[in-house]
Amino acid sequence: MPLAGGTDLLPNMKRRQQVPRTLLSLRNIDSLRAIQFGDSGARLGACLTLSDIASDPRFRNGATALIQAAASVATPHIRNMATLGGNLCLDTRCNYYDQNYEWRKAINFCMKKDGVTCWVAPSSPKCMAVSSTDTAPALMALGARVRLVSESGERVIALADLYNNDGMIYLHRKPDEILSEVVLDSLHAWRSTYWKLRRRGSFDFPVLSVAAAIRLGRSQIVEDARIVIGSAASRPLVAGEAAAFLIGRALTDEAILEVAAFAARIAKPLDNTDFDMSWRKKVTTEFVTYALRELRGDDVAIERAAITRMPAI
Ligand SMILES: Cc1cc2nc3c(=O)[nH]c(=O)nc-3n(C[C@H](O)[C@H](O)[C@H](O)COP(=O)(O)OP(=O)(O)OC[C@H]3O[C@@H](n4cnc5c(N)ncnc54)[C@H](O)[C@@H]3O)c2cc1C
Ligand code: SF4
Repeated sequence: MPLAGGTDLLPNMKRRQQVPRTLLSLRNIDSLRAIQFGDSGARLGACLTLSDIASDPRFRNGATALIQAAASVATPHIRNMATLGGNLCLDTRCNYYDQNYEWRKAINFCMKKDGVTCWVAPSSPKCMAVSSTDTAPALMALGARVRLVSESGERVIALADLYNNDGMIYLHRKPDEILSEVVLDSLHAWRSTYWKLRRRGSFDFPVLSVAAAIRLGRSQIVEDARIVIGSAASRPLVAGEAAAFLIGRALTDEAILEVAAFAARIAKPLDNTDFDMSWRKKVTTEFVTYALRELRGDDVAIERAAITRMPAI
């Protein structure tokens, strides 16, 4: 398995959740740490650390959601090691899986590793562990693409197409492919934001998140919009119909409430992470509302600090 910062893979190996026979370190490949900005957009090497990204002022404005997401991952020490590529390829999480070996053995393991039953939904043929990456929903809302490179060639795909709604086979990445870079088109005239629900404000994985990006035209009419819901399934979910509803409209209170209810319909959290699942679904509506109000220009700093425990950026 590729090893980047190792901040997720190495703890998982200690718990025997992942047992690769061979690790391939990406650390000393300089080109994976390159960053390029131009008029047409940006290219971010997969081994840039989350600290590199969170502290780079060039991501403000259009790509604010990316800075907010990167800055909300784990702790400062971990962000100094953790990479963008590792965050995008992060293993899915579940209360029955993110436990030590003895704990998992005591329940006869589960389908994702060493067992046969899914303890969340025993009749389910597939694992429903939760996508828990912060930067993926943010980058999907920004329309990012990713480059996958292997000995036999390379391909660039929409980041949204990297993900599969299956807790075990959660990436459409071939085993010999390395995610080498993230490609962003120009975000001129775009505004974006990221809202994350977690128990501990100092550090914690997301258990629900919303990333939203809009491009406003004359008279504050929405010309383009993207809304992505994270940590509510085994992949980040694109609320495509809800975003399409916004296009050609002004961000009025009525439009925002309607879109928020629309977007939340696709979020169907299960009882396998922190917090009550029905409450997480209700928070989806609230987060879309706050995100769109923030993008409209409302001051929602108090709500952001109180609910997401994320500082304004
Ligand atoms: C205490 C703690 C708190 C955390 N909190 C959060 C959080 O709030 N939000 C969050 O999103 N994450 C969190 N994490 C998880 C982790 O720190 C981050 O997701 C981090 O960005 C992972 O990056 P990494 O470089 O360390 O990945 P690694 O651990 O090196 O790798 C992670 C996975 O990605 C694969 N991989 C890595 N790079 C590539 C590449 N270029 N191409 C293909 N595959 C690749 C690896 O094979 C592995 O499967 C937390 C971890 C800890 C220990
Ligand atoms: S969703 Fe089911 S199979 Fe997947 S990790 Fe959780 S208990 Fe295991």
